[in-house]
Amino acid sequence: MSEIRTRFAPSPTGKLHIGGLRTALYNWLYAKNHGGKFLLRIEDTDRTRLVEGAVQNIIDNLRWAGLSYDNEPVIQSQRQDLYRQAAEELVNKKLAYRCFCTPQRLEQLRQIQQAKKLPTHYDGHCRNLSAPEVAAGLADQRPSVIRFALPQHGTVTFTDQVRGEVRFNLATLDDQILMKSDGFPTYHLASVVDDHDMKISHVIRGEEWLPSTPKHILLYQAFGWTAPHFAHLPLLLNPDRSKLSKRTGDVAVDEYRTAGYLPEAVVNFILLMGWNPGTDQELFRLPEMVQQFSLEHINKSGAVFNRDKLDWFNGQYLRQKSVDELVTLARPYLLSAGIKNVDDTAYLQQVIALEQKRIGKLSDLPGLIEYFFSPPKIDVSALPWRKQKPSEAAQILREISQFLGNFTQKDFTIQDLETNMKAFVRDHGGANGPVLWPMRYALSGRPASPGPLEIAAVLGRQETCRRLERAASLVIDQS
Ligand code: GLU
Repeated sequence: MSEIRTRFAPSPTGKLHIGGLRTALYNWLYAKNHGGKFLLRIEDTDRTRLVEGAVQNIIDNLRWAGLSYDNEPVIQSQRQDLYRQAAEELVNKKLAYRCFCTPQRLEQLRQIQQAKKLPTHYDGHCRNLSAPEVAAGLADQRPSVIRFALPQHGTVTFTDQVRGEVRFNLATLDDQILMKSDGFPTYHLASVVDDHDMKISHVIRGEEWLPSTPKHILLYQAFGWTAPHFAHLPLLLNPDRSKLSKRTGDVAVDEYRTAGYLPEAVVNFILLMGWNPGTDQELFRLPEMVQQFSLEHINKSGAVFNRDKLDWFNGQYLRQKSVDELVTLARPYLLSAGIKNVDDTAYLQQVIALEQKRIGKLSDLPGLIEYFFSPPKIDVSALPWRKQKPSEAAQILREISQFLGNFTQKDFTIQDLETNMKAFVRDHGGANGPVLWPMRYALSGRPASPGPLEIAAVLGRQETCRRLERAASLVIDQS
């Protein structure tokens, strides 16, 4: 088999969409799985929809996800000559024609067809212009486009690698514009010319491009080129099965990055939105995906975007990080949340090691660990354990503080604290709740947190005693 070559061909009309990243991933995986090439092409011929910074955003996000492309990106706006020549070739072969129809005429045509409840179609008005008529139009510099002279009946049939045999009735297709009056090609022409020129063997793209495929196949035939294989990926859906869109949630890859999702998690998550390994395996890193990926296991039906599942993946990958890596990842999130004293790496490591089991995404981290950097706000009513009176909770906190105050900082390891506090509990009725609950809350100010002894070990002797006293004094103040 000749070389497998795939491409990702985004239009730079905004930030890279999560669905776009999935398309890129599948193309990348397919190429890598076959030892082939993955190419990037920027489809920027619709000059009205360009968004500044979009190309950079696409490139940054591919890099972030670990999807490296071969060669320099192909930029369509720099290849106008190629498209013009291709269009002229078809005009010469009488498979395409100049059309001088004005926007007004086309609008009128549309209204008439609509009124008659007919499908809105270009009516082929300029199909049969004579050579002198065309020459005159060009000489007068009348704006014109080049249209594809499509066969008007029959069918186009092709085998989609995902959906099997797909058939289109030609009567439903329009004489597609190939070159616009601004001298830029349309998507259809540029896409076919480039896929051929770039020797693309497999076009893997979203299902929304399926209706364009018969036009592309006819263009390949018109040029006398062999068409690549096509694979159309299932739509991404919201949980209510509507099409995933900006209106219904986050769609830009950037939004997930800033929320603190790891690339490993996002990539693993989108892998399984439209592809299945045929086993129960859920966790895949890139090399394993490359090994297992195949077009046969792409699903036909839409893939529901399940945010909880993404959080689950993120938690899995965060837990696989070393504490050092997590500290580096976490710092910017802590700083931007206004936690300033994050320079003490050893301290940060202890704090983060405590939360590693719990954390779902990096942006949650500041809220979870804030109390390690400044004393928490205490709601006195949350301090007592079950039926305990606030004054009893305060009393216990004072006693714990006095007790722990007798030890040195050296005795503040988690092991020492466990031994000592066990003795303390035994001497105070033997139940953990009335001792450890107020202690935990006094230290963290949170309804859920790591255990009080773990927190105390990190805070150290002085700060632990200070917080216990402070919480106790709040109770007295209010009684
Ligand atoms: N520029 C199109 C897009 O934005 C590419 C479609 C294709 O892959 O052919 O998705």
